Parts: sequence; structure tokens; C-alpha cells
Amino acid sequence: MKVLTFHAPGDVRIEDAPEPTPGPADVKIRVRACSTCGTDVKIYNHGHHHIVPPRVMGHEIAGEVVEVGADVTGWQAGDRVQVIAAIPCGRCGECTRGHMTVCSNQVSMGYHFDGGFAEYMVVPRNVLDVDGLNRIPDGVSYAEASVAEPLACVLNGQNLARVGDGDDVVVVGSGPIGCLHVRLARARGAKRVFLVDLNRERLDLAADLVRPDAAICGAETDVVDAVMKLTEGRGADVVITAAASGAAQEQALQMTARQGRISFFGGLPKDKPVVSVDSNIVHYRELTIVGANGSSPEHNKEALRLIASGAVPVADLITHRLPLADALDAFGIVARGEAIKVTIEP
Ligand SMILES: [Zn+2]
Ligand SMILES: [Zn+2]
Repeated sequence: MKVLTFHAPGDVRIEDAPEPTPGPADVKIRVRACSTCGTDVKIYNHGHHHIVPPRVMGHEIAGEVVEVGADVTGWQAGDRVQVIAAIPCGRCGECTRGHMTVCSNQVSMGYHFDGGFAEYMVVPRNVLDVDGLNRIPDGVSYAEASVAEPLACVLNGQNLARVGDGDDVVVVGSGPIGCLHVRLARARGAKRVFLVDLNRERLDLAADLVRPDAAICGAETDVVDAVMKLTEGRGADVVITAAASGAAQEQALQMTARQGRISFFGGLPKDKPVVSVDSNIVHYRELTIVGANGSSPEHNKEALRLIASGAVPVADLITHRLPLADALDAFGIVARGEAIKVTIEP
């Protein structure tokens, strides 16, 4: 079968590999859709300290069960499934407290296990043990189901930032994650949602699809000024930074309303993780700053329900569908910001 394998930073190859064999507690799937994201581009360029090459990449996975290990119950060939990306251990102190996104034993598809840029993939028992293999609801395509994983991460972020009814929400970053944030905030009853990006083309592409109440180009406009004007001088109830930008995080503090919440959704580059925070703004305005680290199995299930019910449509966010042979082109398209979501159909 064909796979996309990471060998070293800058050395990612489409190559032939033997079909994997599932162990007695595993499930084997025929991958039907595996979406790409900025993380894949990061791995391509820099590798990742959890990846020991060679490793098949791809973590936004949907497919069809083709073989079930002898000890596995509840699954059979032909089942349509979505696979979690971040796999918690289910047993540690955080997991037993229900904090599965910060499990310190977390392992991941495409990092510790071969991922979904392949014709066939083994879903390891680690996934099944934490109920991380999810049935795709009727009416949801494989491509849409592959977007459940990033949507699950967005859901985790908005739960932590308590996005809800009547909120004014600013989303900084108009990539696929930013688009999902806009859609989910609307589904949760946000009053107004404003989308910000430095790149005018990408902002326009995203705004055309997700229709924010205002689209603010940071290269042309002072973002803080614009948000303060749009919110009648009050600031936004929630600011979500879905961009790897310390400057955006610092700006977020300047445009958040009293008792507002700030989600540092996107991580910063490893060599530039420090920002400056006027702690008195946080103190006097009673701000909450929260992080976000991936998603739990339950977030993935909820994401599939949100897609199935139409509360968060994702089909139109998939702007490109490519065969596995073109996966390297897909990374280029993602890196250049030309697409919203690029889905590989192996
Ligand atoms: Zn991803
Ligand atoms: Zn754990």
C-alpha cells in the first residue's frame, strides 16, 4: 500500500509499505479521509520530539473498518469510524479527574503510532481502551468526519473559555481552526463574532465562508482600535488567539471586556514562548486567561454530533480534496494559506 512517511525534517516521502496487521486488541481500517493541518507542515519542516522516524503521518482520520482483532467486541467490517488523535491513558490522576486533554501519559496518532496518510491503518488498543473510536453518524461523509478532530479541539477551547449566549467573540487567525471557532461560537449563541487575520487574502477567503460580523485585517487596521469601536468601547467578552503569535496574545489583553475570557488557543514557537502581560489589567478587569491542549475522546463524540446536527457545518470548509499521491502538494497549499481545509483521500 501507499503511505506518507516522515523520515527527517524536510524528508517526507510517499512510499510503498506492507499493509499493517492488527493485534488481537486492535482494529484495522481502510482510511477514506485524513485531513491536513498546520501541525503536519510543522512536522514536515521541523519534526517533533515525540516522533521517532520512520513514521506514517496524519492525525485527522476517518475510515472504514476492514478487520477486527480477536479480542475486540462491538466493531465489525464495514463500520464507518472516526479516530481520536490525542490518546489519553485513562488511568492517571488527570484522566480520573476527567482532565483527559492534559494526561501526562498522552500518546498520539501519527506520532507514537502510524497515522492516517495511508491506505490502511491500525487503530491501536490504546484508542479502543479510552473509547476513542467513534461511529460516524448517518449523513456525515468521511471527509466531514475527518474534521471532527480539529473541531473537538476547538470545542475544548470554547468550553474552557466559556463561550456562550450573548457573547461578543473575537477570533484571531482565519485558518481552518479560526473558521471552526467562528462557526462554533455562533452555534453556542454568541451575539457577534469578529474575525482577524494579518493576511488579507486568507481573511477574505475565510470571511466569505463563515460570514463573521466583521473581518479585520491586521495589516491594514489597528485591531485593538477596531474591536473597541465595534463593541462600543467595551471590548469583547471572549478573545481567542488561533494563531502562533505572541503579539496577538498581547493584543488580546487590550481588547477584552471586563470579566472577559482569553483563550491562548494556538501555541507559540518553542524558541519564543514568552509574552508580556500587564497583570493589573487582568487583576482589575477580572480577566480569565486559559490555554487549550487538544481534545478528549468525549470532545470528538460531541464534535461528530455538532457536524451531524448541522449546528457546525464543515463540508464547505473543505476547499481541497487530493489523493495520497498529492499529499506533499497539500502541505504546500496549507503552508501558503491558500486553502481552508485540505483533505487527503487515500
Ligand atoms: Zn490537526
Ligand atoms: Zn492519563
